[in-house]
Amino acid sequence: MKASVDADLCIGCELCAGTVPDVFSMNGSVAEAISGDVPADLEEEVTGACEECPVEAISVN
Ligand code: SF4
Repeated sequence: MKASVDADLCIGCELCAGTVPDVFSMNGSVAEAISGDVPADLEEEVTGACEECPVEAISVN
């Protein structure tokens, strides 16, 4: 699984970076995801962050 953040949609609420800091981090006022594969043991948390993002800025594939 890979995760990505649409910087045009992100409102910088820091929810994803706060809940899955090994995958998401804040770059100024927007979040960004690690470029490589999401570690298998974090996939469930990343899926949760994706669902909880208030502006649906996170994509997983
Ligand atoms: S949860 Fe969504 S809006 Fe909030 S920082 Fe992460 S990507 Fe941005």
